[in-house]
Amino acid sequence: MNAMGEALSRVLDPAALDACDKPRGRLVIEVPADWAGAVIEVVIPTRVACARCDGGGCEGCGLRGGHRVPGDPTGRLVRTRLPSALEGGVVLRILRPFGDDGAGIAQLHLEVRAGTAASAGVTWCASAVPEEPRIERAEPRAVAPPLGARKAATYATIAVALAALVAFVLGR
Ligand SMILES: [Zn+2]
Repeated sequence: MNAMGEALSRVLDPAALDACDKPRGRLVIEVPADWAGAVIEVVIPTRVACARCDGGGCEGCGLRGGHRVPGDPTGRLVRTRLPSALEGGVVLRILRPFGDDGAGIAQLHLEVRAGTAASAGVTWCASAVPEEPRIERAEPRAVAPPLGARKAATYATIAVALAALVAFVLGR
């Protein structure tokens, strides 16, 4: 087996994932049943349960029962596609959910249950059939400019309005 095949099988092999001794977090969310197959975004809470002991405390979590997830909500955002069937609940294993230098959680076990409403912090992104323009339009909302930039834009608008007024008065 070549190096890449080996790496891939290591990533996809559940036994290897189970054997990994790095911090493993667990989060249970609920989504409406008709979200199956859709892409969702989840703002991971600042603390998630330890996936090994489920809160009881073990070596993997330093007996704390959970793991802290540092960073602001944007830094704790995870985007994933739901399976096309959610009946009975599914567990999505997300490796390095916050990137390599991320919050220290090597795996996030996202347990998804089909219900009536989406849990707090869970948003629908794209339907089962990807629709690019819809995704494009959703982007600016996710990266809204900081308050300072919005204020500057407001002042710029006011300045333009004033200039127009002055021009109008002078022109009379
Ligand atoms: Zn634990």
